[in-house]
Amino acid sequence: MTGISGTAHQQQFEQVQRRIRACTACVDAGFIERAMPIFQGHTGQRLMIIGQAPAWRNEETPPYSGASGRRLQGWMEQAGFPPGSLHERFYLTSLTKCFPGVSKSGKGDRAPGTAEIALCRPNLDSELAFVQPEVIVTLGRLSAKRFLGNRPLSAIVGHRFQEDGQIVLPLPHPSGVSRWLNDPENQKQVDRALELLSELRQQLDL
Ligand code: SF4
Repeated sequence: MTGISGTAHQQQFEQVQRRIRACTACVDAGFIERAMPIFQGHTGQRLMIIGQAPAWRNEETPPYSGASGRRLQGWMEQAGFPPGSLHERFYLTSLTKCFPGVSKSGKGDRAPGTAEIALCRPNLDSELAFVQPEVIVTLGRLSAKRFLGNRPLSAIVGHRFQEDGQIVLPLPHPSGVSRWLNDPENQKQVDRALELLSELRQQLDL
């Protein structure tokens, strides 16, 4: 941030956030029935979590308040962050910001398609540009693909990456629908990723 005060920067970002909250691009394109963009945070946050898409919730409920959020908070505590840190320290967002509906199989939520991710990309780009997090935690393969290309979770979870001056740390999606987590070997990779996050927390005083 150069030539602009922190307050003005935050105010500009709030305008951007209002514009995102009013976005109906995926409704207009026929991908979803109702737009309700979900994200939470402000400039100056040094940690960002980028998921795939929000689960269903009403307007008042913050992101990651359900079972996935409880598992995610548990992971953050395993990395040494205190209880409640998920909603206090992390900017919380996702590739697409509106609930995409349930999957055809009825098991879990529908993954957003390439066209929906492309429609929402300018919103995520704006969040990244304004917040400028030092550490980005991606959740799931699609979110990691945004930074690391199309690679299997087994090849990237448990490693940290440097992308455009930011550290990217991939995790699987914390949803119970993610079968990847059922393999004990994969769980060891999650444990390693959380060790790396703990090291970053201490090194960078996050
Ligand atoms: S998912 Fe993103 S692009 Fe689509 S309507 Fe919601 S905010 Fe707009």
